[in-house]
Amino acid sequence: MTSSSPSRPWPIVGLSLALGLSVAETGLVFKAGGVLGHVAVAACVYALILGTLDTLAARRGLSPVERLLLGLLNVGAFGWMSNQPLFSLSLVMLAAGLFSLIAQSRAWPLAMILWGLAWWPARPQAEPPRPPMVTPAAQGPNLAVIVLDTLVRDRCATYGYERPTSPNLDALARRGVLMERAWSTANWSLPAHASLFSARLPHDHGTNQREGYTLPADTLLAERLRLAGYETAGLSANPFAGIGSGLAQGFTHFEPFWRDFTAGETLFAARVLNGLTGRDRDKGGAAIVSALDDWLTQRDPARSFFLFVNLMEAHGPYQEVPLAQRAAFIDAPRRDLEAAGEAGHMAQIFGVGVPEALAPVNDALLDGCTLAADHLLGEIMRRLPENTVIIALSDHGDMMGEQGFYGHNTGLYEPIVNIAWVMAGPGLPVGRRLDAPVSIADVAPTALALLGLPPFEGVFGLDLGPAIRGELALDGRLVYAEHPSPVYTTSGWRTRRPWHDWSDVLAARSAVTDGAQKRVVHADGRDWAFDLGADPGERRPGDGATSGLPRPEVLE
Ligand SMILES: [Zn+2]
Repeated sequence: MTSSSPSRPWPIVGLSLALGLSVAETGLVFKAGGVLGHVAVAACVYALILGTLDTLAARRGLSPVERLLLGLLNVGAFGWMSNQPLFSLSLVMLAAGLFSLIAQSRAWPLAMILWGLAWWPARPQAEPPRPPMVTPAAQGPNLAVIVLDTLVRDRCATYGYERPTSPNLDALARRGVLMERAWSTANWSLPAHASLFSARLPHDHGTNQREGYTLPADTLLAERLRLAGYETAGLSANPFAGIGSGLAQGFTHFEPFWRDFTAGETLFAARVLNGLTGRDRDKGGAAIVSALDDWLTQRDPARSFFLFVNLMEAHGPYQEVPLAQRAAFIDAPRRDLEAAGEAGHMAQIFGVGVPEALAPVNDALLDGCTLAADHLLGEIMRRLPENTVIIALSDHGDMMGEQGFYGHNTGLYEPIVNIAWVMAGPGLPVGRRLDAPVSIADVAPTALALLGLPPFEGVFGLDLGPAIRGELALDGRLVYAEHPSPVYTTSGWRTRRPWHDWSDVLAARSAVTDGAQKRVVHADGRDWAFDLGADPGERRPGDGATSGLPRPEVLE
């Protein structure tokens, strides 16, 4: 590899960078299986580009250091052309580049150490030990909790939206119960799922970005059901609803799917190959349905089950959702759909707007992806036995330009905290709509009661069964949402929106509602009240102290 000559230079810098990049991104985003295949494919794409560039640079007489800088510049361009900044990759890239330089100076032992470091991220993610099933088999109804991640309530036809975006959610509502005023407890997946599973508010379960993942044993729905003799399975396309976050506790079978589709979204090589081969994409949903088929055929049919599914189709960026579904509500060329999805994603990460020409496309994309998530919900519903309580809901919503924001990184505005929640099955009435304020934290207590199991003690969430059956009025019930610290991607906003009022974006805040009035208290002292009936867009904040609602505690 060191036999370069001035007349025919060997592109060792470019090829080392290509291999390092392929190994690094494959290790970062793919599951353990099939790693070498992915490395090979990605290496071919990168070797072609970086190798050619390096050959040309070497023939122009550039020094190895200059060639390395040129190659790294090119890698930066890949990162820019992909959806997410490849910060972690740049470190491995640097190691690979140094390797090539050192190899040329014949310092081989040091080069081998660096090369070993480049392989470091390729190690598979450790899985928790699977607890054995020792309890007697549960015989009651099955339970399926299907989270349509980031599903925007008001974009579902089930909740009155004009486009037919949610035929399967509609069908579920017709044969069961629909929650008219359901709130999440948070603005993003991790604390919201922790509330879903633990029936606790974020300040109580403590699971958020800053405080880490500390869930005491036997406090989660899956753990309770496993102890009651249920077989418990989780199929999740969201890394925050998974093994790394502690939320897979209690599942006897848990499969993460996010690495596969994140690869398609993030890797330049994957996007090039998708474009060349015309391969249809999957944001995890199709793989989850196929995994569900496998699990249902091999499971013990004598034992009741709890199934948890997280689908990410309605979560931006939307590129990995099959094209036919993305374009379901707009006649736009593929490149416009790609550009609009990209623009919406950038708007979320950097706090900028979506260009005016692309806004309607981005809007239709959300509707198409809502339909895609709903389609998968239907596929899952068709596979479940009749004796199953099915609960379909969003973990939180999303902003689509309201208040100038995209995504759900900041704020507790209604498009974010309002969630869709529909359920049907044994023990539930048909065609009921409950108008009382309810919380995502009520899901687990309601499910436990439906299955005839003992309730959680000392939690915020309520068993809604009595209210659903009309035996209990929930007048005066208050539900809460908490936003203790800004989520990671908002850190990019400071540089892109220096003119913005940062106190609004970065202040911790908590909100409370009785369904009619809403009070939002910020750590910087702002105390807002909104009359949700007269001002549903939350444009005219009044004085929170006069709202008649208690002051919610704000976590710094
Ligand atoms: Zn989420």
